[in-house]
Amino acid sequence: MTTDCIFCNIANGKTDTEFLFENETLVVFKDIKPHAPVHLLLVPKKHIRSINDLTSVDDAIVSSLISAGKHMANEVGIAASGYKLVFNVEQGGGQVIFHLHLHLLGGWKR
Ligand code: AMP
Ligand code: ZN
Repeated sequence: MTTDCIFCNIANGKTDTEFLFENETLVVFKDIKPHAPVHLLLVPKKHIRSINDLTSVDDAIVSSLISAGKHMANEVGIAASGYKLVFNVEQGGGQVIFHLHLHLLGGWKR
């Protein structure tokens, strides 16, 4: 069953989006409109609107997102050169999709 939330649909395999990584908690896929040479999105399978909506029951999800960010940075070869892990929070923080996600950005030539 699909929902109105695009990231719920992607994370639960309802679209043809290709995953670079998946575990029981989250999926990782390429941003459709990259803002960096490497731009991945790490998206929990659970629908949480934004960082503002996190409670202590979600601590393991947040931890998993950050661990997966570190893992993916290694996998795509940007760990040593460096990268950004970014949560945009609500409209003023640049969030446009209201399903929690962590951006992994890197790969710049410096
Ligand atoms: P945010 O501004 O933090 O809400 O980021 C949402 C991100 O999702 C943007 O960088 C979009 O380019 C990206 N995005 C939107 N739809 C898709 C999609 N179907 N597949 C991959 N990335 C997407
Ligand atoms: Zn959702």
